Amino acid sequence: MNIAEVLKNKIESNQTVLTEFESKELLREIGIPVPVQKLTISKKETVSAAEEIGFPIVLKLMAEDVVHKSDTGAVKLNLQSKEDVDKAYDELMQIPSQREKKISVQKMADEPITELIIGMTTDPQFGPALMFGIGGILVELLEDVSFRIAPITEYDAKEMIHEIKGFPILDGYRGKPKADIKAIINVLLTISDLVVKHEEINEMDLNPVFIYEKGLICVDARIILKKKESRE
Ligand code: ADP
Ligand code: MG
Repeated sequence: MNIAEVLKNKIESNQTVLTEFESKELLREIGIPVPVQKLTISKKETVSAAEEIGFPIVLKLMAEDVVHKSDTGAVKLNLQSKEDVDKAYDELMQIPSQREKKISVQKMADEPITELIIGMTTDPQFGPALMFGIGGILVELLEDVSFRIAPITEYDAKEMIHEIKGFPILDGYRGKPKADIKAIINVLLTISDLVVKHEEINEMDLNPVFIYEKGLICVDARIILKKKESRE
């Protein structure tokens, strides 16, 4: 996949939002781990994709008008068997949507030390700003996040991680394992590099990224491009 081509085609056809599936394939391309995922359009296909990928499985409803998936019941986690998949598929098909429905079949990732949020927004004055935080109430209620304007150095990435108040959660708080800080630094640097090379990207939201003692995996992502007019 040539990322520049993919982004250009999207913008030319006035599509500015990459789906979760497309966003994660792009992340995979630049070396950020994402779960094995497959798009399906029938129950039969969904069941065979699940068996091929291996249980436990996650099913998500993909439709252009379903944005906050878990709020509408569009995420079915921890499916353990063909029967679970069968039932979850029927439930997903009940969710109201005016658009074409597809199913994303993905490998269920292991329980992390914690969930992270890594993002990018475009500041009208300074350009691409990278964001880092620990998912859940730390970000939602306490706004415990750090920002840096891209491009960032390895030193900046380290600072972004260390300066949030929730840092002890990553540093082996109460006997929990220490998170793989090096892996987080790598993701921040990779995203910095991507957005500097591709000015057509307006926004990125990796939410959540599961962090482990060794490695990490991004289980949900959204990439938004600049509109054609705003780039001319
Ligand atoms: P939303 O659109 O609501 O943000 P997500 O795709 O982020 O939907 O899924 C909701 C939650 O389900 C995530 O925050 C994560 O905790 C869990 N989740 C999603 N995908 C996976 C996966 N592949 N493996 C394990 N957990 C997942
Ligand atoms: Mg999410």
